[in-house]
Amino acid sequence: MYVIDARHFLNDKGDIGPVRGPARKLAEFVTAVVAHESNFDRPESPGPVCFKCRKSPVDTAMTEAQTIVWLCPRCAIDGSVSNWEGTFWDLSHGSPSD
Ligand SMILES: [Zn+2]
Repeated sequence: MYVIDARHFLNDKGDIGPVRGPARKLAEFVTAVVAHESNFDRPESPGPVCFKCRKSPVDTAMTEAQTIVWLCPRCAIDGSVSNWEGTFWDLSHGSPSD
């Protein structure tokens, strides 16, 4: 299980820190998971594609502690993301154009 603090992937401007390589792929996946799950207005749409197998969208959910969890039904990797509130990918307060 990947236990991730979203802010570890962000630089001091709040943008994704890692520029390339596996860390970048994981960072992009994690931010996509956050955007997907924190957008309470979203239509029922599949989650981001699994960064590991790249063959299946992951299932995402929010725990009572406001931790976002994901699970890939295909390769069974899972993880949690905390500390995502207030990042660029936190859509829980609606998009700026609303
Ligand atoms: Zn997978």
